Amino acid sequence: MQKLIIAIDGPVGSGKSTVARRVAALLGYVYIDSGAMYRAVALKALRRGVSLDDAGALTALAQATHIDLRVQDGAQRVFLDGEDVTAAIRTPEVSQSASKIAVVPGVRHVLVAEQRRAGERGGVVMEGRDIGSVVFPDAQLKIFLTASAEVRAERRWREHQQKGDAIDLARTLEEVHERDRRDRERSSSPLVRAPDAVVVDSTAMEPEEVARLIVLLAKGQAAGKTG
Ligand code: C5P
Repeated sequence: MQKLIIAIDGPVGSGKSTVARRVAALLGYVYIDSGAMYRAVALKALRRGVSLDDAGALTALAQATHIDLRVQDGAQRVFLDGEDVTAAIRTPEVSQSASKIAVVPGVRHVLVAEQRRAGERGGVVMEGRDIGSVVFPDAQLKIFLTASAEVRAERRWREHQQKGDAIDLARTLEEVHERDRRDRERSSSPLVRAPDAVVVDSTAMEPEEVARLIVLLAKGQAAGKTG
């Protein structure tokens, strides 16, 4: 069967990561988390004290950064210039900073080129905000995953609770709204649904159901292409 490029886009907390990882496992595909790349650049900027408003400095920083997404013991790990930053990029501060540096066209240019290189051979599930619209506009299957803001905030809050981070649910909802706004309103590759994307609302669905639905769509697509 043909190896597809599957693009999964959607707002924060829509379940993209869990679903994309599961779809990749079910199909034997590679999973690529494009948001981790924006997070890694944001972490480097924070550590170096680079202003998040300085587009030129952020672009130069992205150009001089090596990000590696590797699978170790079945889990994806993120390396920033050789250092394992898998946990360090998941703090609320890095989440907000990532959505700030993601508005810079120069940063996006660098990371989109990386993402295209990583996915061009197919057999990938890539998740993000602009995968179906910009990175792989010819992807054979595009999913736009969404859910109500309240449910998305609750999911994020639970993740933080599980890690032992004391974080308030109301504050998490505010942060979700803030990031949604920034992702949708930026002029460079905003979060939009590609016209040919299948919209899946996961508000009342378990990740496993969503993953199986996407696998069915992928199999139909792959069979249609080859037959
Ligand atoms: O998906 P995740 O929440 O890890 O992404 C962090 C931030 O990176 C998002 O809020 C978004 O601003 C940015 N991003 C993006 N384009 C992508 C993936 C992530 O702008 N393809």
